[in-house]
Parts: sequence; structure tokens; C-alpha cells
Amino acid sequence: MAGGRGFPRHSESRYSRPTITTGQATGMLDPFGRKVTYLRVSVTDRCDLRCVYCMAEEMRFLPKADLLSLEELERLCAAFVGLGVRKIRLTGGEPLVRRGLMTLIGNLGALVRAGDLDELTLTTNATQLARHAEGLAEAGVRRINVSLDSLDPERFRAITRRGDLGKVVEGIEAARDAGLAVKINAVALKGLNDDEIERLVEWCGQGGYDLTFIETMPMGDIDGDRTAHYMPLTEVRARIERRFTLTDSDHRTGGPARYADVAETGRRVGFITPMTHNFCESCNRVRITCTGTLYMCLGRDDAADLRAPLRSGLGDQALREAILSAIARKPKGHDFIIDRTHDRPAVARHMSVTGG
Ligand code: SAM
Ligand code: SF4
Repeated sequence: MAGGRGFPRHSESRYSRPTITTGQATGMLDPFGRKVTYLRVSVTDRCDLRCVYCMAEEMRFLPKADLLSLEELERLCAAFVGLGVRKIRLTGGEPLVRRGLMTLIGNLGALVRAGDLDELTLTTNATQLARHAEGLAEAGVRRINVSLDSLDPERFRAITRRGDLGKVVEGIEAARDAGLAVKINAVALKGLNDDEIERLVEWCGQGGYDLTFIETMPMGDIDGDRTAHYMPLTEVRARIERRFTLTDSDHRTGGPARYADVAETGRRVGFITPMTHNFCESCNRVRITCTGTLYMCLGRDDAADLRAPLRSGLGDQALREAILSAIARKPKGHDFIIDRTHDRPAVARHMSVTGG
């Protein structure tokens, strides 16, 4: 096995003991003194949906041969944990369409149980969640994010270009019943779901889910004009405040969302505002793609190839050095702009490549 490190499958451990050795965590500081503790891993660029703000209808996905194997993804995650990462989010594309993903989740979950990792979590469209919810909870996942932009079946199908709302809701309920805390993520889309903002707040309150709104980011070509549906979250918040009482909260989940408590529902509503309020000063995260490319910033093109050191046969020291030299280049921030004079994507790659 690459690097000489073995990874017993979770069927051997049945989630009872760590299967990955991470070494002594050393900590990673970027040039601006920010500690990198959060790794997002896109396990596949493929997806069973084609959300209009995320993908084009016809997408050319990566050849399967280019993807890191699950063992390689594990080894990469272990290297990051060894360097001080405390939270891992698996994303995509749609993570649950990657075959064998539950094995990876089982093995990474062992790191949580061993205390080497504070949290293992997932962002999913929930189309396959109903059959995986129990397994996720059993593996040590405690919270998941589910993307849901509309509660109207027709509209949901239109936004996702093919999705079945019933299946998604079934998945969300299965996750809740399995004991997972579910946070709903909704992209605010003017003219597409802005009249559902209050309903989403209410529905999440009734179901016991927190809710986060996201501004659309200019990433990748999508067969359409993002500026037409761009909606600043200042408008979303103003709309919510006409019906609900919001009190700003100190609650943080390690990500960029800023939260407020909703008095009427007893839940929280969060706002992720990469466009109207850039959150780079507190950025603690980096992202790897399913081919092992490390992006130090979601909104920048600079990247480091980790697949070569991973496959070099030189062992984990070479991999650690490649990671550290990339972290030393982490930029101060992005400068996303979305308006009529900037209607090209700020970065060519889609969110599904880097992982949202
Ligand atoms: N397929 C999974 C899902 O939809 O939850 C995980 C990957 S998806 C790329 C992660 C998140 O990115 C989703 O919440 C999605 O709404 C969001 N997203 C995708 N493209 C975006 C864009 N251009 N701007 C803002 N958010 C975007
Ligand atoms: Fe797929 Fe998620 Fe992108 Fe929608 S947002 S197309 S579900 S990757």
C-alpha cells in the first residue's frame, strides 16, 4: 500500500477502534497567522442532480481513473489530521453517489472516536440519505448539512433540473430519526425561491433543523446568468425580520456562517455571505478535490498537487512537506464580484469540483 500504511476496513473494526495512524498533530499556520484546522474533501465531482446555480445541464465529469482511491483519500485525510486538522467535511459533487463511501466514513469516524478529530461531517443533497442515515450515525457522524432550495416539488425539480423533493424530505427525516443534527442549506435565488424564505424558516423550525442561507458565488459556467438570480442576504434577512424575531448569536460551527436565534421557532438561522461580507479574515479551511488537488482558497486558482507526492512511494514525510509548502501560500482572501459588469465566473471550476 502507498506509504506503507495499512487501513483495515471498517468491517474488521466495526467502528470500534481507530484504523488510521495520524502521528502527533503539529498544527498548521498560514502566512497571515490563521490556523488551518478544517479540511473539506470533495470525494467525487459527479452528482445525480444539476442545480442551476452549480452545474451546466451537460457536464463533462472527470474520468474515473483520475480519481483518488478511497484508500488514498484516507491517507490524505490522515496526513492533514496529523498536521492539526480537527474537522473534516466530505462533500462533492454528491458524496453519497461515490461507491464505497461508507467505508471511508467508517474509517474516518474512528478518528473521531479516538479523539484525533473533533468532527466528521457531510454535505449532501439527501437523494440517497434515507438508506445511509443509520450507517452515518453508527460511524460517528453527528451533524450533516443538506442542501434544499425549495419546498415546492415542481420548483425543486426545476432548480435541480431533475430532483424528487419527496426523496429528499424522506432522507432528511431518516437522518433526524437516526439522531443526526440536520442543517438545511438554501441558496437564495431571486425570482426562484425568494418567496419561500419565510416558509423555509417555518418548515425548518417545525422539523427541528437549523437553516443557513447562502449567496450564489461566481464559480464555473452554468448555461445561464447568475447575476439574474443573485440575491444579497441583507435582503433575505430583512424579509425574515418582517415575520420573525432574530437575535444575533455567538454560535459557530467552524464554518463561515453567522447565526441568529429565531424566537418564534426556537431554531437558528445562519447567513453565509461571501459576496456582501467577505469572511476571509477568519478562514481556517482548505479544500481537496477528488483528484488530490489542494485549493488553499475557494475563490482563487492557486493549487497544489498532492496526488504526485501521495503516489511517489516516498512516504508520508513527502506528503506532509507538500501540504505545508502549500499552506505557506494560502492567500489572504478572495475577491468575488457579481454584477452586470462581471458576468464571467471568478474561477473557472465549478463548486462541485472544489467542494462547497
Ligand atoms: N451535492 C451536495 C449538496 O448539494 O449539498 C454537496 C456539494 S454542493 C457543491 C455544496 C453546496 O454548495 C450546496 O449547498 C450548494 O447549494 C452550494 N453551491 C453550489 N454551487 C454554488 C454557487 N455557485 N454559489 C453558492 N453556493 C453554491
Ligand atoms: Fe449536485 Fe450539490 Fe451541485 Fe446541486 S449543488 S448540482 S446537488 S453538487
